[in-house]
Amino acid sequence: MTSGHSLRVLLAIMLPTLLLSCERPVDERPVSRLSGATMGTTFSIQLVAPPHGVSMTTLEDQVTKTLASIEASMSTYRPDSELSRFNAHSGSDWFVVSAELCAVVAAAQGLSHLTGGAFDITVGPLVNLWGFGPDITVAQPPGAERIAEAMRLTGNQHLQTDCSVPALAKALPALYVDLSAYTKGYAVDRIASLLSDFGASNYFVEIGGEIRVTGSNAHNQPWSIAIEAPHRGASSVTRVVELSDASMATSGDYRNYFEHDGRIYSHTIDPRSGYPVSHSVAAVSVVADSTALADGLATALLVLGPIEGMQFAEQQDIAALFQLRTDAGVQERMSTRFARELAKP
Ligand code: ADP
Ligand code: MG
Repeated sequence: MTSGHSLRVLLAIMLPTLLLSCERPVDERPVSRLSGATMGTTFSIQLVAPPHGVSMTTLEDQVTKTLASIEASMSTYRPDSELSRFNAHSGSDWFVVSAELCAVVAAAQGLSHLTGGAFDITVGPLVNLWGFGPDITVAQPPGAERIAEAMRLTGNQHLQTDCSVPALAKALPALYVDLSAYTKGYAVDRIASLLSDFGASNYFVEIGGEIRVTGSNAHNQPWSIAIEAPHRGASSVTRVVELSDASMATSGDYRNYFEHDGRIYSHTIDPRSGYPVSHSVAAVSVVADSTALADGLATALLVLGPIEGMQFAEQQDIAALFQLRTDAGVQERMSTRFARELAKP
């Protein structure tokens, strides 16, 4: 789980605050905030008009426990997590895991099938070879032979789930499952359900730039979420979308990458070639009903690229915003659903 993009979200939250700082409107509702570190990045929560009788200390405790349990189960950065133990297991027998991990792996597998393997949680050996895994970072691209070798260790067909047990099985001893492109979104969904269970109906939850909002903000308006321009230096805003009950995730090539001989190698790998994505798409933002889905789809669309990715978004009626690098600077391309539902006139 790699560092995220929380800056673009901070901008979104700060804009209204700054504008309104000189005068507090009468309709402003109280906001409780929680933030911290998780999954190699940060999280932030805003709870508008917290329900009566809810203790923020109890809530914080529950949030911390939920995030810790997800990391203990699904992190490849923890050698003792359930997932790391499955990755280290070299047998092809059924490996019993928690029902939660099994369900997440099965859902991620479903997304792999849907995207024709563009999203692929078995991409781990390639992610690690390119230096974007938990162990080593690399300064230069690996050789073609090592890439071909890692590719032979990837592929969804080698991973099975049986969630009636619940258990996972691998057909290749070296199969390595990497849930990093899915778990931040999944954790956002878990925290959002937790807040709803506490009776909250207006909140914002964000982990590493993957977001879910429910209800309205302190000013009784939809939440304004800034989408960051994909610059490798200072941060700026491309556009602001207004969301009420929705999730948004962004995948980009501009935060986690290395540079060699004037070329950029990003942490999103095209499982079909074994190389980091290298087309003109600098970032893709997806708005969906679930944050886990938005997170995975954003990675898939980034892999698929400007043409195939947009075709897929149209076929599946996905609300997606592509930011492309062109000679004339960054240009936006919206899917029909994004343009209809999210672009301001
Ligand atoms: P982003 O916000 O840019 O999507 P994420 O951390 O959500 O960043 O996802 C990127 C991570 O997903 C990589 O660091 C790697 O561990 C993993 N990954 C890379 N390529 C793929 C892929 N094609 N399918 C699934 N996961 C991938
Ligand atoms: Mg992501």
